[in-house]
Amino acid sequence: MKKHNFSAGPCILPHSVFKEASAAVLDFNNSGLSILEISHRSKDFVNVMEEARSLVLDLLQLKNKGYQALFLHGGASTQFLSVAYNLLEKKAAYLNTGTWSSKAIKEAKMFGEIVEVGSFKDKSFSYIPKKYSIDRSYDYFHCTSNNTIYGTQIKKFPQIEIPLVCDMSSDIFSRQLDFSQFDLIYAGAQKNMGPAGTTLVVVKESILGKVTRKIPSLLNYQIQIEKESMFNTPAVYAVYVSLLNLRWLQSLGGIKAIEEINEKKAQLFYSEIDINPLFKGYAAKEDRSTMNATFNLEDNKLEPLFNQLLEEANINGLNGHRSVGGYRASMYNALPLSSVETLVEVMSELERKA
Ligand code: PMP
Repeated sequence: MKKHNFSAGPCILPHSVFKEASAAVLDFNNSGLSILEISHRSKDFVNVMEEARSLVLDLLQLKNKGYQALFLHGGASTQFLSVAYNLLEKKAAYLNTGTWSSKAIKEAKMFGEIVEVGSFKDKSFSYIPKKYSIDRSYDYFHCTSNNTIYGTQIKKFPQIEIPLVCDMSSDIFSRQLDFSQFDLIYAGAQKNMGPAGTTLVVVKESILGKVTRKIPSLLNYQIQIEKESMFNTPAVYAVYVSLLNLRWLQSLGGIKAIEEINEKKAQLFYSEIDINPLFKGYAAKEDRSTMNATFNLEDNKLEPLFNQLLEEANINGLNGHRSVGGYRASMYNALPLSSVETLVEVMSELERKA
């Protein structure tokens, strides 16, 4: 029986995507060949890559606005250094909102001066700092739109006159934003885009070519654009499954449609957190993530009973990140509302039984 999968990533994808993806392993496009054995230079795969790159720009409403979409290797973590390699000449501003921003800062420091604006380690990253300003002396400003571990999400991005770079690994394609306010967006695929193994980079071409250092080819966005994301063998299967997932999103009505569903799921979950006295939410209310809801039991003695009820209800992946503990319900695009209903029922059952 399919489990309710609240895993933080890799995570649930639509069942129709699993089915299509598995069929292509046996026979891709009636070619008599598996997707796993075809050349990445074959026409069939070149079409996959082209459609995937184009669909990303369509869904983000960035077509004909000077942007390019790339499917690269190395996870979002490689982008922590690629961003700096390609854009950092002297100094950059970073908003530190948690573990992933801290890691991005660590890598970027190897390339220039990094100024942390609005940092707030005192509060255990439970809210998004809002009082900071960024002047034109920086090469770019970097932020993390959704903090997968702490469960906070930036709702409003600063208006700035320098390139805006954003790690959207855990909330890309989940909500409507004016994506043209960003100059570079990156995201590991393994949440809302597809399986692990490829990383999306969406970049405005006009910000490139400004640094004086030499950039290794594989990490050079301009070379990747020139080579149409095929500088070397791409992650063929991960890109293909991402395409299936992006098609699914488009057929549902795109980001506008999924945003409505995501808001319903988040509202249902957080209203239970707010009325059930056994639980407390981790993140500040105004900064609560619609993707990753972090919470704790008021009384840890109830943990064995809660865990037992979760297991009986076929719920998977609710543990908090190993660095913070507690619980985390990840409600990515493909997680059905019915899974959140089941979780909320278990939480009220605990209240009745405790
Ligand atoms: N940024 C964010 C916001 C993430 O959630 C993650 C992974 N969970 C990463 C970066 C790192 O991604 P990867 O494992 O693809 O390098």
